Amino acid sequence: MEVLEDVGLAFHDLSDIIETPPMGPSQRRYANAVAIVETKHDPETLLGLLKGVEQAFGNRRGQRWGARALDLDIILWNGGVWASPRLTIPHAAFRERTFVLAPARQIAGDWRDPITGLSVQHLHARLTRQQPATRWASAPGCKNSSGNARNP
Ligand code: ADP
Ligand code: MG
Repeated sequence: MEVLEDVGLAFHDLSDIIETPPMGPSQRRYANAVAIVETKHDPETLLGLLKGVEQAFGNRRGQRWGARALDLDIILWNGGVWASPRLTIPHAAFRERTFVLAPARQIAGDWRDPITGLSVQHLHARLTRQQPATRWASAPGCKNSSGNARNP
């Protein structure tokens, strides 16, 4: 966070840090968090600054760029949609990522996705309700493990 403040970002809020269990062949664990920051820079300049911080962080740990220590993404901003070859806002994959939506809803639950019109809170609920619905489809009449129908 100090490094991000050094490049001119003002922190307004920070979510809890949520750990993601090892996934895929790398078996690495990731710590995910979301922050609300304010900056005078436009989104493309901000992306450049974030990439600089990612690289500096990796280099400090003596890791190559391929073995990423830090991934800083722009999820949403207050200017609606941004679409350029380098940068897409909202982030293209954020609606499908629980590790983004879970921390995001803590601090920005009422922020709206300008593409779907849904709030972060709504997107998170939609994503986390999909899995139980699939199980019921194959076993009609069953309840989920918490004994509740539909809402965990
Ligand atoms: P991801 O963060 O989606 O898992 P990467 O960090 O590998 O994947 O992103 C690769 C490239 O995606 C970046 O170099 C950047 O130019 C581009 N990009 C497009 N939109 C965004 C965004 N909203 N935030 C961060 N990077 C983005
Ligand atoms: Mg990234």
